Amino acid sequence: MNNSDNIYTLAAAGVQRLIPYKAGKPIEELERELGLTQITKLASNENPLGPGKKALEAIASALSELALYPDGSGFLLKQALANKYAVDDSQITLGNGSNEILELVARAFLTPEHEAVFSQHAFAVYPIVTQAVGATAVVVPALNYGHDLDAMLLAVTEKTRLVFIANPNNPTGTLLSQASLARFLDALPNSCVCVLDEAYFEFVNSAEPINSIAWLKDHPNLLITRTFSKAYGLAGLRIGYGLSSPQMADILNRVRQPFNNNNIALVAALAALDDDEHLQQTIAVNTHGMQQLVDGFKALNLAWIPSAGNFVLVDLKQAAMPIYEALLRKGVIVRPVAVYELPNHLRISIGTKTENQLFLDALTEILADVR
Ligand SMILES: *Cc1c(COP(=O)(O)O)cnc(C)c1O
Repeated sequence: MNNSDNIYTLAAAGVQRLIPYKAGKPIEELERELGLTQITKLASNENPLGPGKKALEAIASALSELALYPDGSGFLLKQALANKYAVDDSQITLGNGSNEILELVARAFLTPEHEAVFSQHAFAVYPIVTQAVGATAVVVPALNYGHDLDAMLLAVTEKTRLVFIANPNNPTGTLLSQASLARFLDALPNSCVCVLDEAYFEFVNSAEPINSIAWLKDHPNLLITRTFSKAYGLAGLRIGYGLSSPQMADILNRVRQPFNNNNIALVAALAALDDDEHLQQTIAVNTHGMQQLVDGFKALNLAWIPSAGNFVLVDLKQAAMPIYEALLRKGVIVRPVAVYELPNHLRISIGTKTENQLFLDALTEILADVR
């Protein structure tokens, strides 16, 4: 075989059609491209405060153990999570980021004969993990930018093995209520696994708490995923977890790699769980930053989608890509969301007060030029 493109025809059918995930532009890349040095990245919903002090100390003291394999069972972290959430440690699955949990559940439950249901504008990893295993994605039109749970239920057939729900959803920030989710779970057939992706759980306003863990005892087909990447500020270490029935956790455990969590990530996550002060500070910075951005959008006469997460979608009422590029030239990286069928919106991660202001000032200048 001489033509190296032929190798594509050998890949699994789902993989041949797969469009890879496009991450937020890394700071170093923009530095290289434009020779800029002062760059503000509000593109990947990272914690603008970074990791907490306790996590950093744990990381420093674990460096001497890098020659050793990590504890493949993640015993200590699972125990801490089990205590925190009043579940048994047999109900916990640790992942290399919660993205890995999403991949594990797809590999464990989907085949080319099966379907996965998720919403329009939902997290981009759902179609990727679905297609990679050759299963069929059933995309349900959104309702007011969020999940239309009634329509999603109607889309479930005997072929459906997975339903993905992100709450709050990324990139739209929309939040489903406890009551609507409870109704959905009760109505969902037992033959279908519900993946409830709670990557932004910690940011949800305590006035509308969602106690999803309470559903686990009646729903062995429920898998809740959470992460240390967002509120805990450990995105670079790649660690997240699933909460489920012990049976579901057993199934996921069969397909995971034996050492999927590195020892630095394990100790950092353990320490981060014990650092409520940093978590509360993170939430406070987010609450203030969200208000700052919303006030800025109002002043610019722009609409936005109310968000329960640590990011917000602003509606530019014009193609967002040129504005995105103009922001890049001013050293501000945000996230275009045309791949989510939202070509006129940009997603802004909430930063520190200074970062938010840099973004608003840059946007104000750019809009003054194009208007
Ligand atoms: C960021 C994010 C995740 C997970 O990220 P990890 O870093 O892999 O834990 C999962 N779901 C949604 C909706 C996200 O936005």
